[in-house]
Amino acid sequence: MFLLEHQHKGMPARTGKLVTAHGTVSTPAFVVVATRATVKAVEPAALREIGVQIVISNSYHLHLRPGEETVAALGGLHGFSGWNGPTMTDSGGFQVFSLGAGKEHGVGKVASIFPGDEPRPTRNHYRQGKSLVQLTEEGASFRSIIDGSEHFFSPEGVIELERQLGADIILVLDECTSPMHDYAYTKDAMKRTHRWAERSLTALDAPNKESLHPNPDQILYGIVQGGAYEDLRKESARVIGAMPFGGFAIGGSLGKSKQDMLYVLDWTIPMLPDDKARHLLGIGEIEDIFAGVRRGVDTFDCAAATRVARNGTVFLKGEPRHRINLRNARFSRDPRPIDESCDCFTCRNHSRAYLRHLCRSGEFSFYRLATIHNLRFLVRLMQDIRSAIAADTLEELEQDWMN
Ligand SMILES: [Zn+2]
Repeated sequence: MFLLEHQHKGMPARTGKLVTAHGTVSTPAFVVVATRATVKAVEPAALREIGVQIVISNSYHLHLRPGEETVAALGGLHGFSGWNGPTMTDSGGFQVFSLGAGKEHGVGKVASIFPGDEPRPTRNHYRQGKSLVQLTEEGASFRSIIDGSEHFFSPEGVIELERQLGADIILVLDECTSPMHDYAYTKDAMKRTHRWAERSLTALDAPNKESLHPNPDQILYGIVQGGAYEDLRKESARVIGAMPFGGFAIGGSLGKSKQDMLYVLDWTIPMLPDDKARHLLGIGEIEDIFAGVRRGVDTFDCAAATRVARNGTVFLKGEPRHRINLRNARFSRDPRPIDESCDCFTCRNHSRAYLRHLCRSGEFSFYRLATIHNLRFLVRLMQDIRSAIAADTLEELEQDWMN
């Protein structure tokens, strides 16, 4: 469970220990995305060397392939993947959202729309089209993106699915609303998410089929919804925060801008109990990590660090948005490592010029080397954040990064 270690002087930021059946996570921490039971391009042994503490896989994707029974038969996610450290699984609520309203509205988590802009798709899989999801009180039915087969997710079914996958921290099924949903719909969806949360807790208490469940000590997180509406977010945080969950995630539409996202955090976190961990779903830009940490977020997950790496974008403090793109011609004969202060395998062994060559040639080794650097960069950033909180100097650290 969660042990609060140090509360920062004058702000909600805190350090703590998240104790799981497969190890303890020092928080604040970055949870590395391993959607299909692997971090793309990097194997578990390298993750350990990088200092990654915890990974998050996706129940929806693993349900479609290879199927939870297969994962359970091989010892759950830990036995199956060879990563024996702490793990989380997302419930699939966000995928239901992406295939449903997100697809109809053509938007992602923080919509790419600002006041005055027209809605526009953020990525291919949010391309506008007819919703592929039928939502009822009972749950959500949808078609597989792999083979078109019909599937049904209920709160109870997702608990059973996550029990078979066996992650240490599991999330309830929720309904993610889109920033384009109006107040009335967002409120209905939030109430439904609250009823689903009750059903999930009941399902977790039901006698379990021990032989099929590889990890008996799972921690269930509730998810706060309510879109970008102040009264709904506060109500959701109060209602979900009062339920006997092991921790809490903040999910769903975080509004139409970064500022909206900060409001959502400001409304939500003070309503959640101090003695449970708080996870911010799907957010992980450096400025967002600082904004979340100072408001009391303990863990983050985001696919961006690994996704952009595969495109040639690597993190480097002091550059615009703390990143450079190795495809740039200015690196063609640059003998320096990506970051002279970085101790990762890539920076210890390879020059920008060589990495640029691998990237432009589409070599598989590039995906691995670039991902290793970006993950090590985030691991070190989170270490620095934890040290700064312990010393009550988070403000100074953030200044140093934001200037
Ligand atoms: Zn490096």
